[in-house]
Order: sequence, then structure tokens, then C-alpha cells
Amino acid sequence: MKRASLATVAGVALAVLASPASLAQEAGRAPRAAADYPAPTAFPKANEAAVATHLSAARKIAGADLFADMAHRCIISPVYPVRVRGIQYDGKITPTKVFDQFYSVGQNAVSAYVLKTSAGLILFDTLDNADEAEHLLVPNMIALGLDPKQIKYIVLTHGHGDHYGGADWLQRTTGAKVIAAAADWAMMEKGSASGPFKDLVTPKRDMVIADGQTLTLGDTSIRFYVTPGHTPGTLSAIFAVTDHGQKHIVGFNGGTGGGRDEAGLRASIPAFGRWAELTKAAGVDTLIANHPLHAETLEREELIRHALPGDPNPFVIGADTYQRYVRVQQECARVQLARMGLTE
Ligand SMILES: [Zn+2]
Ligand SMILES: [Zn+2]
Repeated sequence: MKRASLATVAGVALAVLASPASLAQEAGRAPRAAADYPAPTAFPKANEAAVATHLSAARKIAGADLFADMAHRCIISPVYPVRVRGIQYDGKITPTKVFDQFYSVGQNAVSAYVLKTSAGLILFDTLDNADEAEHLLVPNMIALGLDPKQIKYIVLTHGHGDHYGGADWLQRTTGAKVIAAAADWAMMEKGSASGPFKDLVTPKRDMVIADGQTLTLGDTSIRFYVTPGHTPGTLSAIFAVTDHGQKHIVGFNGGTGGGRDEAGLRASIPAFGRWAELTKAAGVDTLIANHPLHAETLEREELIRHALPGDPNPFVIGADTYQRYVRVQQECARVQLARMGLTE
């Protein structure tokens, strides 16, 4: 084979890097014929003129600094979803202290964060299942000097299994109160009939958070908003952190995974518009998302772990750039509606 002979010439390293067949075999899949490779998603009803209009708008809003975010949400995720699954694999990360009181404790495919207060810890999301909670999330916390027994609240950004999968186990082992919005409590309690999350145990419904409600623990307050689109009860949060003592305001949108269908896309467009207004009024200058892929999280964390004195925190993107990030998400929803042949 051509690939094998190339590898023989160039050495072992190339053989490992350049052979998709070996990757496929490693994953337990038979190598496929080229004719069977996955194709880009087809959108037979697309209104191509409207797609072009909104892609052009998204690209302008994104500029050079948010190009990767535009490309992911507007193009790669909807058109080349297999590529997303390749990058967004289940894998370990290096747990990282992101701000003076904010810690990244998740995994490569999905995020989890801890916010430390004067009266205990608040955990955002719980990974895919009890196994990951026990063997990834808890060790990540301990590595950063955080005691899982000090978790007082578990916030679920939305009711998909990759965010609530470990919640039941953590609720039982730590006694923390689990918080979600009403619509996504209903979604979790209904469960899924098939797929990787069908056997998940739904956590006990401790607290329903309403749009605009504030949660206070010790010296820390979090303002929550229901931002539908990705799910009907997606929960987003605004709160303050400090970076070497300097205050910043985090905008943690629970729905950067985008709308999954017509109803979700339609709901997300005004929700992102409202989120832009809320975060602008609150002075949000810091981007946090609930999947590493949605905000180049692992890249930013690598930079934090290797920051020189005076290097800026890469999650602090600035208030204007944060607004553009949200507008890019909104415009990508319009692109996707146009691909489906629909108008706003
Ligand atoms: Zn989701
Ligand atoms: Zn997710």
C-alpha cells in the first residue's frame, strides 16, 4: 500500500500519525472503503442565498480573533459532525486553576468547573456518568486541593446526559443540592429511551432555579438566566471572579452547543440576543463554556499553566469581544435555519 511504503521510508512516527486505518482498528472498527467514508451533512432544502448572507455576517462579526468559534459553530459542527466527534473524544485533561476561585475539573469531551466561595464549593456540571464523576472529576478536584465533601451546590447547565450523568452519584456521596431549570428537570426525569445515556439515574430534584434568580453561598452570588435553544431549560450564569486579585465578570452560557432542531434554533436566536444585553449590562468580559471545544478551553488552560508574570488570563477576552462571541452564536443559528430552508 502507498501509505505503508511512505511510512517505511519516513519511519515509525509517521506510520503512527498517518494511518487512519490503525486508528480505526484501535477504536474497534473495521477499515472502510473510501466510497463509504462519511460525507458532509446534506441540506437539500437549503436557501443558499440566505446561508451566504448569514455566513458572511457571522464571519464579519467574528473577525480574525473569533474565527475558530465561528468556524466551529457555523460550519464544522453542523456540516462535518464526525470531525467534532474525533476532537471531542472522552479523554483526561490537566485540571487547572483558571481564576483565583474558579477551577476546571472536567474531561476533554465535556467541561466541569468548581467555583470556590467562603462557605463551600459550587460545582457546574458532572460529566457523563458516575464512573467519570468518581474517577475523573473527583481526582481532578483533589489534585487542585479541593475537597469534594465541600460541594454545597451542583448546577446543571442543561439536561443532556453529558452534563448531568454524574449528578446522582455526586448528590448521594457529597450531600450537595442539585440545581437545574424546570424544563430541563422535566427532560432529565423523562430520561432517554436509547443511546449512551439511557441507563442514567436522574438526580433527586432539590432546587428549581427560575430566570433571573440569584444563588448566594458565602461571599459569592451567581445570577442565573434561562436561555433556551440548546435545550428548553438551558441555564446560563453571570458571576464575578478574580485573577491575581483583579475582578472580572464571567458569562457562562449553558447553550453554546447550539440549537438541535427547528424549535431549538428558533428559540436560541432571541435567547442569544437577550443574553448579549444581559451580559453587556453586567459588564461580562470573560468567556466560559461547557465544552472545551466551544471556547478553546484546553488551549487557554495550557497558556494559564505556562503564563509568565503579567501575561493576561486568556479567558478574559474583553467586554466587546464577548458581545461579538454571543452574536456569532446567534448568527450561526440563522445560518443553520437557512440551511434547513427556513426563515427566522
Ligand atoms: Zn447538550
Ligand atoms: Zn454537552
